[in-house]
Amino acid sequence: MKYKVMIIIIAVIFAAGAVGTFFALNSPARGTVRVISGGKVIETIDLISSDDRSFDVEYDGHKNTVEIRDHRVRVISADCPDQTCVRMGWLSSSSMPIVCLPHQLVIEYTESLDGIDAVTR
Ligand SMILES: [Zn+2]
Repeated sequence: MKYKVMIIIIAVIFAAGAVGTFFALNSPARGTVRVISGGKVIETIDLISSDDRSFDVEYDGHKNTVEIRDHRVRVISADCPDQTCVRMGWLSSSSMPIVCLPHQLVIEYTESLDGIDAVTR
């Protein structure tokens, strides 16, 4: 009997973990992001209420095009030499901001999203 109870408990814990992981992986991006250009916050965007749009951020004659779609944000094009900001894709973690070093552009969450990010900070 005890063995059976153990199995059920383990199964429940496992199921809860699987569901939690599922939601963590599939939850849409949350929260507010800010766009920093040359050390100044030029745009603050509430992703939850934002409509799909894109806008250009210009700095010192250079340009990054930022796209907001499905409540996520990314750099879709840039005229920087390394293209790192474009390759980073969607902003997904508060501990991993999108950075364009040549253009001094940073796109980041204004606050940590969850405990895991808080620990890695
Ligand atoms: Zn770049």
